[in-house]
Amino acid sequence: MANRYQAPLALVRLALNQAAETSGARTLAGYDETLSDLAEPILENASRFAGDVLSPLNPVGDQTPSHCESNGVVTPPGFVEAYRRFREDGWVSLAAPEEYGGQGLSTLISAAVTEMWGGANLSFAMCPELTVGALGALKVHGTAQLIDTYASYLASGEWATAMCLTEPQAGSDLSTLRTRAEPDGDSWRLFGRKIYISWGDHDLTENIVHFVLARTPDAPAGLKGISLFLVPKKVPAAGGVLTKNDIDAVSLEHKMGIRASPTCVMVIGERDGARGWLIGRLHDGLGCMFTMMNHMRLGVGLHSLGLAERSLQLARDHARERLQGRDAAGAQRPIIEHADVRRMLLTMKSLTQAARGLAYTAAATLDVAHSAPVETQRAAAMRRADLLTPIVKAWCSDVAVEVASLGVQIHGGMGFVDDAEISQVYRDARIGPIFEGTNYIQAQDLLGRKVIRDKAAVLGELLVEIEKAAQKLPGAANTDAPNTSTSIAGAAVADTHTQSPATANPLTPLRSALLDSCARLRAATTELIANSPQQPDLIGATAYHFLQWLGLLTGGWQLALATSRAAAESDPGTARATADMAAFYAAHILPRALAHEVTVRNGTAPITTASAADL
Ligand SMILES: Cc1cc2nc3c(=O)[nH]c(=O)nc-3n(C[C@H](O)[C@H](O)[C@H](O)COP(=O)(O)OP(=O)(O)OC[C@H]3O[C@@H](n4cnc5c(N)ncnc54)[C@H](O)[C@@H]3O)c2cc1C
Repeated sequence: MANRYQAPLALVRLALNQAAETSGARTLAGYDETLSDLAEPILENASRFAGDVLSPLNPVGDQTPSHCESNGVVTPPGFVEAYRRFREDGWVSLAAPEEYGGQGLSTLISAAVTEMWGGANLSFAMCPELTVGALGALKVHGTAQLIDTYASYLASGEWATAMCLTEPQAGSDLSTLRTRAEPDGDSWRLFGRKIYISWGDHDLTENIVHFVLARTPDAPAGLKGISLFLVPKKVPAAGGVLTKNDIDAVSLEHKMGIRASPTCVMVIGERDGARGWLIGRLHDGLGCMFTMMNHMRLGVGLHSLGLAERSLQLARDHARERLQGRDAAGAQRPIIEHADVRRMLLTMKSLTQAARGLAYTAAATLDVAHSAPVETQRAAAMRRADLLTPIVKAWCSDVAVEVASLGVQIHGGMGFVDDAEISQVYRDARIGPIFEGTNYIQAQDLLGRKVIRDKAAVLGELLVEIEKAAQKLPGAANTDAPNTSTSIAGAAVADTHTQSPATANPLTPLRSALLDSCARLRAATTELIANSPQQPDLIGATAYHFLQWLGLLTGGWQLALATSRAAAESDPGTARATADMAAFYAAHILPRALAHEVTVRNGTAPITTASAADL
């Protein structure tokens, strides 16, 4: 089949090495060896599986969505067989803990593989991603008995999982959740209705282990009264016997995208109550669920990155073949020769590589958080990963929508017809900013919890690193060492007004823009920290812009690192392409940050100029 997904291995390798270095993961015992010995065959095999097996099924899933029959959900033709091969080839168990029979591979390498699954077939990719997230939650919060009963089945991919949070009245605001759990001996009985549950039922595995948020009798109102329960579709008993539990998918949503992924309405406890087991402490359900949700947020970022890459591939192929317009000699030209089409392709490519660097860096930082030998190192890495996660989820998913939209534009009318794959990729990408907490919820988390709460200590350290990377850009003029003054976290602030003019070197603007943006972000953050106690609406009015700004800035940071690295170690083609992306990003993408700064600096303007009644 033409136009199958193909992983961009040179750029993936570049971003992997860069992330291992930036995060400090390279110094972990055995990490470097794994990266040099194992990464290559894994990436090549994953790329082959994504291209040969998952990619051809992607349009099939769009045209023949999953559907509900009397005895459960049936996935599109080919999905059951693809999942069997996926599992047997060890892809589900790749990142699963070794103690459960998994391969325990680093988060970094599995991140690169996760990107490939998302790029080849997002609907399919979501199912195993849920399993890895659930295993993480089980490992941290599950009892020995639950781990003993479920973990090895999940790690092998024999059973799958689903995350059951949302209810009709409880979307972003889970405090209004109504599903209830009543004690029943050593377990619980659950009753309620959940909506939009991805892979809530299907025919890929014999059993599905649901992670359900519910409220126990006499629980406090609001978020503090929520607990997490494990509710299997079939309850396992001694001798491997499985008994059907009282939880069922009663219908599926018909959706604009990810049509192969069954989005289920689940009825829980319609008869005598679904048997469930408590995970973690009573009333600490949201905290426990966050272990899984943080994994899924990184997963959304990686899958979105894969979709951005896929859009680029489809658009580039189309632009090379489609003839429109003539050259000076009168010959027809492929549209890729038109400057504006190359503008769109370079926007797509540079945003995608920036997002790749950022998402992989978050993944490698998690490896440090889990495996560094010293507790303080682990804790610092976890704080950095916590800061990066909402940016990866929200910024990368917004990037994917933008990149896919440009992909449609490059296809012209052909991109707008239903059976064009770029149209599917665009529709599929649109879910990224909505689920796993909308992108506004990510922004609120970033600004409120990860920045203002610690007075920007973790952010301040990140900004210092960005400045160092900017200073090291190869060949960039080095004469504009910033004047410094003190601001948040005692960090050095660049006084950008004293910078010397940019030289002709195309990387000089990136250097100046990064230093400038770091200084401006520090100053704006200092103002936000000072003003937010008196202005309760400030976070709500500025969080989106703050996240976008930080996304653009950290994306530029990643391209600065990529350029330095590629110049030193990549083939000349990759080095040149990376420098092109960096220069383009500095000229056309990073300046978008200024528009976000305007709102962050005048935080209350958006809500004071337009009341709800005016809209
Ligand atoms: C295809 C699909 C798959 C899904 N899979 C799952 C799943 O597997 N498990 C699961 O539990 N759920 C799942 N969901 C649900 C998903 O997580 C929710 O749709 C999402 O959290 C948003 O909730 P909502 O749809 O109720 O939107 P709302 O909460 O009604 O939000 C609507 C808009 O209002 C904004 N908004 C809401 N509150 C605020 C606020 N306080 N301040 C500012 N703005 C606000 C939002 O950002 C958004 O733009 C899925 C949804 C879809 C569509």
